[in-house]
Amino acid sequence: MNEVLPQLNELLFSSVEGVLVESVEVIDTVVRVEARTTARRATCPGCGCWSGRIHGSYLRFPRDLPTAGKFVVVSLRVRRFVCEEESCERMTFAEQVRSLTRRFGRRTERLRSTLVAVGLALAGRAGARMTDALKVPVSRNTLLRLIASLPDPATPVPRVAGVDEYTQRKGRVYGTVLVDVETRRPVDLLPDREADTLAVWLAERPGIEIVCRDRAPFFAEGATRGAPQALQVADRWHLWHNLGEAAEKCVYRQRGCLRPTPAQPEEPQEEAEPAASPWPTGHRFAERTRAKHATIHALLAAGHSKPSVARQFGMTLNTILRFSRAATAEAGRFAANHNRSAPARRQPGPLRAGSSPTPTLYPKATGSSSKPSWPIAPS
Ligand SMILES: [Zn+2]
Repeated sequence: MNEVLPQLNELLFSSVEGVLVESVEVIDTVVRVEARTTARRATCPGCGCWSGRIHGSYLRFPRDLPTAGKFVVVSLRVRRFVCEEESCERMTFAEQVRSLTRRFGRRTERLRSTLVAVGLALAGRAGARMTDALKVPVSRNTLLRLIASLPDPATPVPRVAGVDEYTQRKGRVYGTVLVDVETRRPVDLLPDREADTLAVWLAERPGIEIVCRDRAPFFAEGATRGAPQALQVADRWHLWHNLGEAAEKCVYRQRGCLRPTPAQPEEPQEEAEPAASPWPTGHRFAERTRAKHATIHALLAAGHSKPSVARQFGMTLNTILRFSRAATAEAGRFAANHNRSAPARRQPGPLRAGSSPTPTLYPKATGSSSKPSWPIAPS
């Protein structure tokens, strides 16, 4: 056995210094490796001083990568040293083995690296299933926690910065997302959508040449103050979005012109589909909404208050008010959709005065017409 142990040491810990294997035991599906540290000294994590004065020792049981399809548990005896630096706040400290352990870690570093690679490739649920197959089972939350603990990758300063808002809670909490338009990758997230925050972020990155943004006044102000050297352009998505909304409203207002005068129906009037209804005949949603609209009007006519009707239907008071004002169910639903899809900030309009230069499409500014749409998420 004494001849085999050095070979096992070389096999199991070839890339780790200061660890000596003392025995290996196979118990059913688990391989238990008993080892100890051999370094004479260790550095204090508090002051960085070396110490060789041993205070005591204890066992750690970090999980390791599997071997031959069996789980591997390392029974590692580590020591606690006394810090001899008088000014240090730590009296004692535990040694860590480089490339093998970390403070409070329950896995070896190589197992941790493997799990991080699986998490980055497959994320939570799929990654957890893969770890089962690899004999290193962990939960999806563990994988996500490992990924979240990774340091942020260094990102170069973008030449063309895309600025738009994102929401953590719609209507309540908004932030700002910044995108490298040329690489189509997000660069940073700001906790709010204030002009001051954006101006500070841009001022720290003087290499930005173009700011591609929507037409919100706070973004215009922040870009003007934070990157006065940059050309400001309106992004293509918002221009098309505003144009689409304007065209939709215009077509809806003129929808009567698009239909020929309906012929006199042969069936009785009460069974015919309303001529101006945008909903198909027999649609469950349409029938349900019409019934709801009729019931609301009947209750109001019978003397019920609007808050009372709202409680009976489990609806908001605004919804009841909208249905009560609408002559038909279709009109009530259209008002809801119209309000939801057209927030006030998105109304087409000129840029705020002083936010020059005049916004133009970025491809036009660079002379290229084959650039794809910018990867800015719609608000
Ligand atoms: Zn110390």
